[in-house]
Amino acid sequence: MVNTSLSFESTYWPFKRYTEVYKRSLQDPEGFWAEEARKLDWFKTWDTVLEWQPPFAQWFVGGELNACYQCVDRHVKTWRRSKVAIYWEGEPGDSRVLSYSTLYRWVNKFASVLKNLGIGKGDRVTLYLPMVPELPIFMLACARIGAVHTVVFSGFSAQALADRINDTQAKLLVTADAGFRRGKLLELKNISDEAVRLSPSIEKVIVARRGNVIPKMKPRRDFWLHDLLDKAVVFVPAEPVESTHPLYILYTSGTTGKPKGIIHGTGGYLVFNNSAYKWVFDIKEESVYWCSADVGWVTGHSSIVYAPLCHGAAIVLYEGAPDYPSVDRWWDIIEKYGVTIFYTSPTGIRMLMKYGEDEVKKHDLSSLELLGSVGEAINPEAWQWYYENIGGERCPIVDTWWQTETGGIMISPAPGIEYAPLKPGSATFPLPGVNADIVDENGKSVPTGEKGYLVIKTPWPGMLMGIYQDPQRYKETYWSKFPGMFYTGDYAIKDKDGYFWLLGRADEVLKIAGHRVGTIEIEDAVVSHQAVTEAAVASKPDPVKGESIVVFATLKQAVSPSLQLKSEIRQHIRRTLGPIATPDEIYFVAKLPKTRSGKIMRRILKAVASGSNIGDLTTLEDEASVDEVRKAYEELKKEV
Ligand code: AMP
Repeated sequence: MVNTSLSFESTYWPFKRYTEVYKRSLQDPEGFWAEEARKLDWFKTWDTVLEWQPPFAQWFVGGELNACYQCVDRHVKTWRRSKVAIYWEGEPGDSRVLSYSTLYRWVNKFASVLKNLGIGKGDRVTLYLPMVPELPIFMLACARIGAVHTVVFSGFSAQALADRINDTQAKLLVTADAGFRRGKLLELKNISDEAVRLSPSIEKVIVARRGNVIPKMKPRRDFWLHDLLDKAVVFVPAEPVESTHPLYILYTSGTTGKPKGIIHGTGGYLVFNNSAYKWVFDIKEESVYWCSADVGWVTGHSSIVYAPLCHGAAIVLYEGAPDYPSVDRWWDIIEKYGVTIFYTSPTGIRMLMKYGEDEVKKHDLSSLELLGSVGEAINPEAWQWYYENIGGERCPIVDTWWQTETGGIMISPAPGIEYAPLKPGSATFPLPGVNADIVDENGKSVPTGEKGYLVIKTPWPGMLMGIYQDPQRYKETYWSKFPGMFYTGDYAIKDKDGYFWLLGRADEVLKIAGHRVGTIEIEDAVVSHQAVTEAAVASKPDPVKGESIVVFATLKQAVSPSLQLKSEIRQHIRRTLGPIATPDEIYFVAKLPKTRSGKIMRRILKAVASGSNIGDLTTLEDEASVDEVRKAYEELKKEV
């Protein structure tokens, strides 16, 4: 049993201040959020705090601001101009330090580069870059001129990149010659070339130099960033945009094959993140904050770029893998930069836990004051290890629940308001303004201790503005299961003390190493292989990644199953979706288990995949197929 009596527990209980703030935020949300909004610099104050035409919310309507101005300009007007904004650590060991004034200089020049290529307000720009300072600088430069960025994780394949470009109809793609990953070079420009062949909307490609690779450059389409910077001016005014102007579009997997372009606006998003960040991380002027996520995910957008920089925080940005060139790389970085707040994922912790405490003990981690976790529920063993070995039993852990759609952290301890006694594995309580509840199939609140669906009952400023070009899908995905409530897709339970415990996805979405992958997306990729007729994907528990992918596939008649074919299909999925979607196991079966109406019985596949109990089979079309799947599973397991 883990020890939950932490040293700070008795000092802060009974948790009066949080309760007061939380109650007030729900009683008068508009008054509450207006007060929070005043913490930002607006070019024009809003007329209306919230226009709520369910399910579309518009925050701070009539107000005008600029996200880049919030994150950079307003700091350079103060002493922070000489403060470190970004400590960047490259995987090979090179490093760069950018002060706020250097960042200011670069965002202006990058904004000039964008303008010189004809990019303006409302244009979509795709950013496919490794974790180099150019990535946040380009995000901010887009925001500066009102362009809308779409960051595509640099581990995604050419096809995945092309799909996202095509959905947004971006005119400009920004990439790099290459990026480092575990000592190898990932040739991003070559992948981009393949993607651009499939994306006719792209007119220009900017290439940043990182890996000293010499890619092919197509005249009049491809430009080296350093050449463009030579012609850039040093000042581009931050364009005042409406509060509801889209800041970015970020794609996430859902329950259908097509990823959803989640749109986040400017005013509401920044207000929410500015406040949530302060509440959760209790950021101070002297903090050195490191979030180890990739900027390509929402955590990177909100918790590496927009929220910390809004606060003028000093952040660490690390390019590479946690275990390269040695397994103590993360601990080395914490020591090197004197990190005070470290925010990572349970997968990362579990991975490094494997190498033992001695790797940690090589380093002085005494600068740490607060630890964070995100991406999936943190299991008590990992929590305890993190608490004891990384936090030296003195740093609280903020377990933060949120999603791409929520824009910012929703359920989490909030030391910036008041510490709640922690319970390892629980994200504790909703932040102020987050009207979270757990409901049953009929939308009724479930009693304490009963599992149900996590919903948010009223709008909050960080919420997505919609799905790009698809309002109908937005309504159906989030607002139709429980009319009037935002459906998160997660199961949760509340304990007798009111603590929220997140219990994983209730829909057909897998969480692989903290990344969301839709089962149907993988199935589409499998079926696009010429040997396959039908496929179904399930997951099984994985000690490091949380879940791992198991594919069941039926083959065309003329094709015989073989290990060679499995490896071909595995490669095919990697090429189509990217390495995160690589299955751990592939099983060829004669038939997939389906309901009478033809729906794949995922529960069965999951049970078979993870070797657990199958449960009730009465809705199965043909019980024999379960035995068949199980038999095939057992047989193939021996074989693999
Ligand atoms: P994404 O939009 O990719 O960030 O994924 C969001 C999903 O990650 C949520 O719907 C949850 O299933 C899961 N998740 C994120 N943070 C946590 C957490 N602290 N505890 C449990 N699940 C989490």
